[in-house]
Amino acid sequence: MAPLITAAGASPEPGQANPDLLALMRPSTLNLGGVPPLSLYVHIPWCLRKCPYCDFNSHAWDAQQQGALPESALVAALLADLEAALPLVWGRKVQTIFIGGGTPSLLAAATVAELIAAIRARLDIVPGAEITLEANPGTFERERFAAFAHAGVTRLSIGVQSFDDGCLQAIGRVHSADQAHAAIAEAKAHFGTYNLDLMYALPGQSRDLWQDSLRQALAYQPPHVSIYHLTLEPNTYFAKHPPALPDEDTAYDMLDDVVAATAASGLQRYEVSAFARPGHRSQHNLNYWQFGDYLGVGPGAHSKLSFAHRIIRQVRLRDPQRYISGAMAGRALSSSTEVSRRDLPFEFMLNALRLVDGFNLSDFSARTGLPTSSIEAGLSQGQSKGLLQRDGQHVHPTPRGMDFLSDLQALFLRDDGST
Ligand code: SF4
Repeated sequence: MAPLITAAGASPEPGQANPDLLALMRPSTLNLGGVPPLSLYVHIPWCLRKCPYCDFNSHAWDAQQQGALPESALVAALLADLEAALPLVWGRKVQTIFIGGGTPSLLAAATVAELIAAIRARLDIVPGAEITLEANPGTFERERFAAFAHAGVTRLSIGVQSFDDGCLQAIGRVHSADQAHAAIAEAKAHFGTYNLDLMYALPGQSRDLWQDSLRQALAYQPPHVSIYHLTLEPNTYFAKHPPALPDEDTAYDMLDDVVAATAASGLQRYEVSAFARPGHRSQHNLNYWQFGDYLGVGPGAHSKLSFAHRIIRQVRLRDPQRYISGAMAGRALSSSTEVSRRDLPFEFMLNALRLVDGFNLSDFSARTGLPTSSIEAGLSQGQSKGLLQRDGQHVHPTPRGMDFLSDLQALFLRDDGST
């Protein structure tokens, strides 16, 4: 990555300002045909408690000790941040909005309504845009679901994870299986589409217990499910204090259960971890996987933005308080860097090869500004190893490629000496 603005030490508090627009417009060797679709991500950084496996930028908020969440201060900062970033996305329509975290369902519905209205006043949101909000299934959050729908949220993503109280406790979740059932019933009543997040290979989880959770989730005929293997990420409590997990063979069997049960229930696997009924794919996530653009506001939020001759990535200040003061001073960024030509093929493949349908070679050129010759070697190797298939202009991972996705993506990690 070639730095436009360096992250390290150049300025103390608060963070960095957005880069000079003229610098972003300068010619380079990269030629994008146009800019891709644009999404907006809004990060809400607080949770009731930090889960021991979580490596997201989420911070426990203890209302007993700390009082009410500083919702107004966060909204003011988010809007100041958004306004400072507007010149980078001037004239572009926003296709989807995702309010993630953290636990955005901790926010009052009135705050969510104010936020969505204020975003609409500042950005050109396409009619009928998908607006997703991540929700935890606690009683307190569930009681807000109807009001979230009223506030303009069109899709709820519910962090169920398991329907077994023992497993939920083992991964430090604050909700119970009964609360998860009640939350899904409420979501079904108020949203035309919703997602259930589930996790397998949890501490102490047998294959029977997993099959039971999967069966209970699919009994709702959900429009969309996202199913993840629990991984021990660095810098988490579980990384320091690893729990006893199901062995690798059991985890593979659990994945086989996922593939068989979702297909039997009419859900189509369209991404490594995502399964949907027709018309219910996550438009926001599809834009990530298709190497679209996204502007991320909020603590630690990431952005990827394209210009005629370059693609930049930005990261906001991670600490909520630093972010709030930084954004109010017009300096919410922790870093802003240009993606180098050399890194673009791998970055594209990290996303596009997650999709069962893969991508068209013309999309690769349009989204990266590079000729398809820059990925020819990786494509040939992928084909010869049986990890991907190429039908004329179309490329998609084989089932084996989906199983060995990191190996497939790594074929595009090339150092050809260019910058
Ligand atoms: S609720 Fe979600 S974001 Fe919050 S700590 Fe747990 S896993 Fe992380």
